[in-house]
Amino acid sequence: MAEFSIIDQYFNRQSYTDVTLGIGDDSALITPPVNQQLVICADTLVAGRHFPLDTSAHAIGWKSVAVNLSDIAAMGAKPHSILLALSLPTIDHEWLEGFSQGIYDCCNQFGVALIGGDTTQGPHLTITVTAMGWIESGQAVLRSGAKVGDYVCVSGQVGDAAYGLQHLGHPLQKRLDYPTPRCQLGQQLKGLASSMIDISDGLAQDLGHILKASKVGARLLLEKLPIDSTLEEIPEQQRWQYALAGGDDYELCFTITPQNYEKLLQKQLDIKITMIGEIVEQTQLTFEHLGSDYPLQIHGYQHFA
Ligand code: ADP
Ligand code: MG
Repeated sequence: MAEFSIIDQYFNRQSYTDVTLGIGDDSALITPPVNQQLVICADTLVAGRHFPLDTSAHAIGWKSVAVNLSDIAAMGAKPHSILLALSLPTIDHEWLEGFSQGIYDCCNQFGVALIGGDTTQGPHLTITVTAMGWIESGQAVLRSGAKVGDYVCVSGQVGDAAYGLQHLGHPLQKRLDYPTPRCQLGQQLKGLASSMIDISDGLAQDLGHILKASKVGARLLLEKLPIDSTLEEIPEQQRWQYALAGGDDYELCFTITPQNYEKLLQKQLDIKITMIGEIVEQTQLTFEHLGSDYPLQIHGYQHFA
């Protein structure tokens, strides 16, 4: 089957609303809204590295889109559209059916259009999604804005996906396979959060990026970490390893002044947020547990380890 019939059969089934020219020409056309900046990012998923080899095609499709929408959310932006670059070792129709459905299910849930891409044969299954979104000029929430005295907050629960990866078949595997990008919360934090990042490599490491960019430190309260009841059952050290170093959470970690935190709580939020610590001057990440210092060695996911 030719490249074109794959595109037509599986990747050209959406009706667009807000796209000037979608799939079918050499490029897509989007008409930018006035006074907005384009927010754009890409993420590649490689089979066996970013998901277990037996992950369902539908979940792979969903996750390829979700991890990118999470990056758009982490800027405070509204997602608009994606491009899909696909390298396939073979043409497997059953797989393509599930995969494309996963792509569209995630796109539809978050009001995003698939507007183009590239399809090629290659030795490994590799999926690169480029996501685009909009934000009012100058309003993007960067990593560099955290200030001493800000609260450190996180959405949802952390450690679920890492636990799911270690215990395939456990209900928490759903959090690994079907991460939920926090698109609405990200936009609600625009104008309120002082810095933000989405958690892909573990809370400690990703918060570390905020601390470095903002030239500050943080003190986290371990007992406040929002974790699943399953993780409450396991020994403390292991529990915090999942929560702080697990990765694949796709929750938002952000800093916010105490005043803006109060404002945020007045809003209708579709996901729980938890205050887990505070930004401090000393440029280190330290932990306390029930009021006492708690030395903890944490390592996040290293791409080239
Ligand atoms: P070109 O050869 O000019 O790069 P292609 O033949 O690769 O164009 O693609 C034809 C059209 O199909 C383009 O609009 C392209 O964006 C789109 N397309 C190709 N692969 C995909 C895909 N996997 N998903 C969505 N759109 C795709
Ligand atoms: Mg091409």
